Amino acid sequence: MPIATLNPATGVVEREFAAHSPEEVQARIASAHRAYLDLTATDFETRAGWMHAAADLLEAEADEVAAMITREMGKTLAQARAEALKSANAMRFYADHAAEFLDGRTLDDPSAVNASEAYVRFQPLGVVLAVMPWNYPIWQVIRFAAPALMAGNTALLKHASNVPQAALYLDELFHRGGFPEGAFRSLLIPAAAVEDVLRDRRVVAVTLTGSEPAGRSVASIAGSEVKHVVLELGGSDPFVVMPSADLDGAVAAAVASRTANNGQACINAKRFIVHAEVHDEFVARFSEAMGALVVGDPTDASTQVGPLATASGRSDLAELVDDAVAKGAVARVGGMAPEGPGWFYPPTVLTGVGPEMRLYAEEAFGPVAAVYRAEDAHDALRIANDTTFGLSSAVWTQDPADEALFVAGLQAGAVFVNGMSISYPELPFGGVKDSGVGRELSAEGIREFCNLKSVWKA
Ligand code: NAP
Repeated sequence: MPIATLNPATGVVEREFAAHSPEEVQARIASAHRAYLDLTATDFETRAGWMHAAADLLEAEADEVAAMITREMGKTLAQARAEALKSANAMRFYADHAAEFLDGRTLDDPSAVNASEAYVRFQPLGVVLAVMPWNYPIWQVIRFAAPALMAGNTALLKHASNVPQAALYLDELFHRGGFPEGAFRSLLIPAAAVEDVLRDRRVVAVTLTGSEPAGRSVASIAGSEVKHVVLELGGSDPFVVMPSADLDGAVAAAVASRTANNGQACINAKRFIVHAEVHDEFVARFSEAMGALVVGDPTDASTQVGPLATASGRSDLAELVDDAVAKGAVARVGGMAPEGPGWFYPPTVLTGVGPEMRLYAEEAFGPVAAVYRAEDAHDALRIANDTTFGLSSAVWTQDPADEALFVAGLQAGAVFVNGMSISYPELPFGGVKDSGVGRELSAEGIREFCNLKSVWKA
């Protein structure tokens, strides 16, 4: 894949970038390692000052950053601007809370371990490699980088090849805020060059957000090097609607949750599992609302759904839909890519999806919803969990017994009751099953890249 900005709304290559030479990659690893040694001598307060300054820059530049995001991956300008501001907010969150999250703990009774004093403390690990996707080109990086840097680590970013301008913006942001040169560096390299970087002895850990195959590949290299790994992979989140649900709210949330980010978020709801009593009404109202969305130029303020980010992403999505329809699924709305420039795909609702169709098991990365009919709550739970993924989930119900059943029974890293899945700096984020390993955000997210050191004193 070339390292280039290809505008998804037009299909035009706007800028191409040369990959960094092996010598440049070595120089960047060396500078990240030097910066780590420098950072270990700084305190939380100093790093928090730099992080706040970087957040202020990002916020002040939110309009330019939004235009860049939209140009590179096609989300609407309003959503791109919200991403920039959300990222600045997360930077401030970690600037303000890192010291408290990494405070460690002291044993009340050290005599239990034959010590006069015993405690645990968190220390940074070193240079961490981050392999990141294009779908939230600023947010995905910040939610790793802000905690990692606040803990005292340094970072190397291998960003997706189709968002090089975002990679270069981030390359400078933390240094502009005051962090030492090298504390955060972007590597303009293809995916095939990740292995050598990860095997470098100065790189001590890796985090990857992206597809399952990429995650498996990077994790196997990290495993062979005995390096810590965090994986945030795909999802096919269930969105369950029970008879007691507020149907107006459920339909509105279903539309928002399936089409946010042009349908290309890991935590978009992708499978809608609806109790038989309200299934037909839900399908009718959901299909109507999906069909009414304005699809088009993501820089136009009236647009609600822009293009998919890549040509291959659109053809992959179209193949999933075509396979389902060929095997008997019904497109209630959408289902056909339009002619013309850009990688647009219409909001689509399918019913009659079964296990013999690829869509049943695979992640639909675009605005395509599969609606399933469930006979009762247990049947809904069975369908919801009949997936290899386990990222997030949502359930709409006013019934406390149903709520308890789904909160306990959904195999996922999160459950949203009467709402849609969203990431917040305050809540841990991550998956179970094939959706990943480890957690980002909150106190757990900053501890992922720390050495938890036990201290025992005679
Ligand atoms: P992808 O192809 O896996 O790419 C993600 C990143 O991994 C890119 O930087 C890519 O580089 C790199 N990469 C790909 N194959 C690699 C390999 N074998 N070794 C090392 N690096 C490799 O993912 P995508 O299709 O762009 O992104 C969509 C996927 O990400 C979806 O499955 C989505 O659900 C998931 N995602 C998950 C989360 C989460 O938090 N759980 C968040 C967002 C997205 P190149 O661009 O150079 O190929």
